[in-house]
Amino acid sequence: MDQLNVVGSVLMIAAHPDDENTALLAYLARGRKVRTGYLSLTRGEGGQNLIGSEQGDALGVIRTQELLAARRIDGAEQFFTRAIDFGFTKTTEETFQKWGHEKILSDVVWVIRRFRPDVIVLRFTGTPKDGHGQHQVSAILGKEAFSAAADPHRFPEQLQWVEPWQAKRIMWNTFAFTRQQEEEAAKLPNQIGVDLGTYDPVLGHSYAEIAGMSRSMHRSQGMGAPERKGSAKNFLVLVEGEPASKDMFDGIDTTWSRIPGGAPVGQILAEAAHSFDVEHPEKTVPALLEARKLMAGLHQPVVDLKRRELDEAIVLCSGLWLDATADKYAVVPGGDLKISATALSREQLPVDVRSVDVDGMATASADLSHGSPLAFNDPHVSTISVTAPKNQPYSQPYWLREPKQGETYTVPNQLDIGLAENPPLLRAHFHLHLDGGDIEAIRPVKFRYIERSQGELTRPVIVEPDVALQLSEGARVFANGTARAIDLQVVANVPSAAGRVEIQVPAGWAVEPRALDFKLTGAGQETPETFQITPPAHDSKAVLEASAMVGGAKIAVGMQVINYPHIPPQVLFPPSRTNLVRTDVRLAAKNIGYVMGAGDEVPEALRQLGADVVLLSADDMARCDLERFDVIVTGVRAYNTRPDLRANQERLLEYVKNGGTMVVQYNVLEGGFVGGDPSSLANIGPYPIKIGRDRVTVEEAPVEPLVSNPVLHKPNEITAKDFEGWVQERGLYFASEWDPHYEALFETHDPGEKPLRGGTLYTRYGKGAYIFTAFSWFRELPAGVPGAYRIFANFLSAGKTE
Ligand SMILES: [Zn+2]
Repeated sequence: MDQLNVVGSVLMIAAHPDDENTALLAYLARGRKVRTGYLSLTRGEGGQNLIGSEQGDALGVIRTQELLAARRIDGAEQFFTRAIDFGFTKTTEETFQKWGHEKILSDVVWVIRRFRPDVIVLRFTGTPKDGHGQHQVSAILGKEAFSAAADPHRFPEQLQWVEPWQAKRIMWNTFAFTRQQEEEAAKLPNQIGVDLGTYDPVLGHSYAEIAGMSRSMHRSQGMGAPERKGSAKNFLVLVEGEPASKDMFDGIDTTWSRIPGGAPVGQILAEAAHSFDVEHPEKTVPALLEARKLMAGLHQPVVDLKRRELDEAIVLCSGLWLDATADKYAVVPGGDLKISATALSREQLPVDVRSVDVDGMATASADLSHGSPLAFNDPHVSTISVTAPKNQPYSQPYWLREPKQGETYTVPNQLDIGLAENPPLLRAHFHLHLDGGDIEAIRPVKFRYIERSQGELTRPVIVEPDVALQLSEGARVFANGTARAIDLQVVANVPSAAGRVEIQVPAGWAVEPRALDFKLTGAGQETPETFQITPPAHDSKAVLEASAMVGGAKIAVGMQVINYPHIPPQVLFPPSRTNLVRTDVRLAAKNIGYVMGAGDEVPEALRQLGADVVLLSADDMARCDLERFDVIVTGVRAYNTRPDLRANQERLLEYVKNGGTMVVQYNVLEGGFVGGDPSSLANIGPYPIKIGRDRVTVEEAPVEPLVSNPVLHKPNEITAKDFEGWVQERGLYFASEWDPHYEALFETHDPGEKPLRGGTLYTRYGKGAYIFTAFSWFRELPAGVPGAYRIFANFLSAGKTE
């Protein structure tokens, strides 16, 4: 009720999921009741995933949904640009070079012109003290967009849809990484203070408390946060625009009076809120309908938004429950969906359903010829049949449909830019008549289902292909000239699917057979098809493409389901293709024990080299005969996530002492310690290693060998060429100090930075070998980087090549 009478807006701008000040968003949306948005330039694709093995595109989808889950709690809206988080960078130059300055500026301008914020809030300063180059760029672009959005000569192609927009002011929500920055910020003049710890008796929480709940949705980056009670002071300083002395909305009319002719609407809404009776909200409906009539004569984009809010308020005050569900969560192109549109009146208020229309991928209407007044507390269900168009695209997120352009997404439709996710496939419009006026309520068509362990859930309705072609993820590596089998699963999404699946490889590579017929009789049924791939004799990189002809239509995608309890299930349709790599790799280890940590695709990569990889359980760690493994490898952040690994460290070191080989990938510090455990710091290796925060983010950064150690020569001769073609970065969380027993194998550093030697450490221990390596093998191996395979194979072989 209060929000209806506030006509103001704020847009916060930063670079990543988790950069946003959730408490300020909650305070603005829930406390000040202004329309509040967060524009994150990227979807956080380049980060590390703490809850599973998804990387890149899939991680971006998870983080998008985490932000939306957070926004459902703090009450703000979510927007993105086309920029891709390409991983940590220290410079604005690398960021602008990879994104294109004008391209991402145009997206920020576009979101501002559509959202029309009164105030823009930056999280960063646009200077090196922001740390991450992408942070700096978010503030630089925010400042530029503040004036560019108002300038009709900038990005005039947007003006066929939107008008130029001048926000009143742009401010920096001060924050500091260090004590020194904190002191500097405290000295800034004309700060506007806000207490985000203010308690809201209607909500029963303070905004900082709400922020803790919201922030804890960022689970893939381990952002679980406290629900903080008590005062929480925050400050804003002017960056540009009209100065403010007391409040960030100084000089901004956030009432209906700002809209010509709007004052009477504000008056009615104020009275309605004042006389609101919690026990009888339906008594407020006539006043709201009166306000709606007055709004009809007003024409500004914000009025359309407020009308939707008003209609939702009327729905709530009337005790109406409106819902649209489909009979299944997925449909194929040309397939049918049955939609149930339910209207239920739970108050003694006369309501007529005049019509229910569905729009989106198809349009249809309910037949309401048999009368439409709602009986008290008796659900009224209209059934609507919809057929998906034959050429309906699959429900791939809009930003992943076209190949990327460098580190930006390709989004052909300007109107999609900025959207957090695909609009619902179908929406139901309920046109309702109440005593005193008409309203329209819109509901996305969802699938509603029961999960025995969780209760009632919903998920978005999607379009999927008749069959999915599943190739296991990651590149295929041919370590010698022999042919290898590649498995392709053809999975049916329809009761019966028959067709022909075909494999294409470029010249020099051979496939046998080229095509196979398949016939599936039941949705969910799958048939494995095996193809023999013969590589060329020389080094080569190629792309294998699988496609199927089914009923005259060509299908060339697989399906990837992302399912976590804190977000709605997501389905991606990656192209059914895989990278083929022919390169000579020799491996002197056969049996590998792998201690999976936070999740990575390294075991699958090692199997490509012909190794047997066994994932070690907690029970194996404690009891199994480790001696049967040539090498034991710990996955990324295994020491952070596997207490059983830390508990059995002595056993593992004993194994090394007796002649085993151990390869430890990167871990992070938590509270100064690995796994948060003070005792674990010293014993991640046989001699002390201190993990630091150093990383090398430029994937082309030169790497120099420091020693002439057999591990660099056997069984593969490692040369500079093996460090070519790496992706995203060299490595992260390098060792900062180490015992002299270790030999640092390589030196590398980002341009203009000090040399770093803690990326890979090697030592003999007893009869065995131990290697700590914080290089990004978890990215390079699945990407099919030939040199990464050769170097890692040497690490695995270390115990046998001395
Ligand atoms: Zn960030």
